Amino acid sequence: MSEPPFSFRITHTDGRARRGAITTAHGAIETPAFMPVGTQGGVKAITHRDLESVGAEVVLGNTYHLYLRPGDALIARLGGLHRFIGWPRPILTDSGGYQVFSLSSRRTITDEGAHFRSHLDGSAHLLTPEKAADIQAHLGSDIAMVLDECVAHPCSIQEAADAMRRTLDWARRARERMLALRSHPVDGVTVTNRGQAQFGIVQGSVYPELREASAVGTVALGFEGHAIGGLSVGEPTDVMYDIVSQTTAFLPEQQPRYLMGTGMPEDLVESVARGVDMFDCVLPTRNARNGQLFTARGRLNIRNARYAEDERPVDSECACYTCRTFSRAYLRHLFLSGEIVAATLNTLHNLNFYLDTMRGIRDAIAFGRFESFRLAFHQRLSRQALDS
Ligand SMILES: [Zn+2]
Repeated sequence: MSEPPFSFRITHTDGRARRGAITTAHGAIETPAFMPVGTQGGVKAITHRDLESVGAEVVLGNTYHLYLRPGDALIARLGGLHRFIGWPRPILTDSGGYQVFSLSSRRTITDEGAHFRSHLDGSAHLLTPEKAADIQAHLGSDIAMVLDECVAHPCSIQEAADAMRRTLDWARRARERMLALRSHPVDGVTVTNRGQAQFGIVQGSVYPELREASAVGTVALGFEGHAIGGLSVGEPTDVMYDIVSQTTAFLPEQQPRYLMGTGMPEDLVESVARGVDMFDCVLPTRNARNGQLFTARGRLNIRNARYAEDERPVDSECACYTCRTFSRAYLRHLFLSGEIVAATLNTLHNLNFYLDTMRGIRDAIAFGRFESFRLAFHQRLSRQALDS
């Protein structure tokens, strides 16, 4: 069995915050890292060239969407996801589970897997832990995620415990499948990236004892890294931070830790302080398309009438193409006119802000001044109120 060319090296620590680098078959990812979401194989409104210009080193692809359209077998025939979408750098794919829970209709969960109907054409599908591993083998991402069961918030401890145990059982099956795919040819499955790593996912809702059991059980399965799932689903922020803090304590120091689907810029800083290395979230891209721009002093809604004759850039401290070139007045005009390029320029800025935040975090950790960075970050945000 060949070991994947996947490694993680921590170069600096500051309190519980870590700086390091993940090495994959498609290059390195400096951590802590933010991964822009490229749902259907593209980050909405921008090109890969734009992504590179803001310093993105890794993008996330959604298995659910790519499985339904254009289909993972087609992508495998075309050489895998990197080649299909023309992005030679690292890619992480989720398992499809989250979208099955949030997008599909008439889903039923059994121990076997998730039965659901496509949101596109109503066709019936069964996503099992093995199937999710096979689809991601076709896609050939550098990091594949196991299928997990996400629960809503609030949910009873019994429901959370049942979903956590099922997630653990699914993780065991997903790992067995991955090891089989690595060791010998499996009928009907084309492995397009021999270097694919696989991460387990810790569930357990807001219950510390379930999170501990989930983390211990998942770590024992031998994954290359671990994610914390089931947060940012409506629980209070302080509860989320507590669960992150308690969960990372049970994850191996020497492996990457990924907080899934979170969040606001302040959540990134606070979660790094609790030992998280990787993030993804649709907020910078989705909010950009709605005209909401992130800055160090808070969020700015470009539709606001106060920007009609404002010649300043969105953020005078931002070096992105949008801020170097255009005024708030022009961006507001583009947005209100429904010009497509408004989404492009806004997305470029928001992603640059997120990736700049991560660069600031990494530098602060390297210089041993993460605590003062964290304090200054919150102080600037609290003085904000750009629109209020
Ligand atoms: Zn900018």
